[in-house]
Amino acid sequence: MSAGNEAGRIVPPEIAERILAAVDARFEEQLRRTSELVESPSLRAAEEPAQDLIEQQFRDLGLDVDRWTIADPELEAHPGYGPPTVDYSRMTNVVGTFTPREELGRSLILNGHIDVVPEGPEEGWSDSPWSSRIEGDWLTGRGAGDMKAGLIANIFAFDALREAGLEPTGRIHLESVVEEECTGNGSLAALLRGYTADAVIISEPEEDALVRANVGVIWFTARVTGSPTHPREMASGFNAIDAAYELIGALRGLEEEWNAEQGEHPFFEDLDHPINFNIGGIRGGDWPSSVPAWCEIRVRVALYPGTTAADAWSRIERCVADATANRGGRPPFEVSLTRDGFYSEGYVLEPGSDAEALLEETHREAFGRELTSFTTPGYLDGRVFVNYGGIPTLVYGPVSENIHGFDERVSIESIRRCTKSMALFIASWCGVRER
Ligand code: ZN
Repeated sequence: MSAGNEAGRIVPPEIAERILAAVDARFEEQLRRTSELVESPSLRAAEEPAQDLIEQQFRDLGLDVDRWTIADPELEAHPGYGPPTVDYSRMTNVVGTFTPREELGRSLILNGHIDVVPEGPEEGWSDSPWSSRIEGDWLTGRGAGDMKAGLIANIFAFDALREAGLEPTGRIHLESVVEEECTGNGSLAALLRGYTADAVIISEPEEDALVRANVGVIWFTARVTGSPTHPREMASGFNAIDAAYELIGALRGLEEEWNAEQGEHPFFEDLDHPINFNIGGIRGGDWPSSVPAWCEIRVRVALYPGTTAADAWSRIERCVADATANRGGRPPFEVSLTRDGFYSEGYVLEPGSDAEALLEETHREAFGRELTSFTTPGYLDGRVFVNYGGIPTLVYGPVSENIHGFDERVSIESIRRCTKSMALFIASWCGVRER
């Protein structure tokens, strides 16, 4: 028997019921695994212990495991590569592959990132960021929503089929990648390693909805050069920190220019301020009694899909050159720009794919309501699969609060329903047969 595996068709009700029951049966264990992963602080370049946990789960499921360090000249040469500031020689991706005895159905990638953003000052949290506290419907901790709940949900959605006595008839790759929060190089490395499929699901925290479009992101550091003097003759020096404020003002001007263009970008017309430039870091000067000789700002900018990173970057360079040269008669100053992270383009999930049609059905079955889609002004690894793999990519996952903030948390019932929807999707997309 092979059920499912027709365009946009969900598995028959009897099979669906078994799968939904299997998710419920394993849900306590799923939560335990989610908590365990949240308790492993997989900050950038410190992901290996958390990847060990994932690798073990892939092995327990009988998957073929591929774990490799992402340092790779081919990756570095790719146009979507973001220059990193960490050593890749010890940072690994983990992929677990299920290959059916006979490949009859469509293939699928279930992707998630293991890295989490910095927790910030711990006193801002009600509890340790790594405690994975459960209270009512919420699981709290850094990375709980973004996106350890989703990463574990991928595994348990896949496992629900086995628990239900079924076996997929299509090839499935479960991916746990690094570097999503800063460059997107982890998913890019997985694609370049040869992992492709007929569809991708990325279970990011997306409010039980589907991402239609999102922005690309560029990171850079701008270093302003000043001229140090004693403050008693301050006017003879040049204050690099004051000048950095001027530069920030010019960048805010460019940000407004880009926001004013939103009408030209499908799916972004109705967003409130889709393009956000974030001044994410600032440091400069040596001490209070010298006019500062230097100041660095770290910046994250966003760009619309369809704009190449190279085009956006040249507009940033022109904006900075103009701001430093044309100062209303005051002397120009010097700024050097260094790209040190994301160099990525956005993407649009074109409506009308079989994958989306099927997700609409599995979502309805799991949630009892219609699937909605939305545009998000943040970066997503979906751009790797859509822009460079030409693969329909469903970024879809649970309700969360405060991601990248204090007391990040994820809704437990939302995790359960998303897992059900994904398990039904896997069975229907890849097809299943009795074990
Ligand atoms: Zn994320």
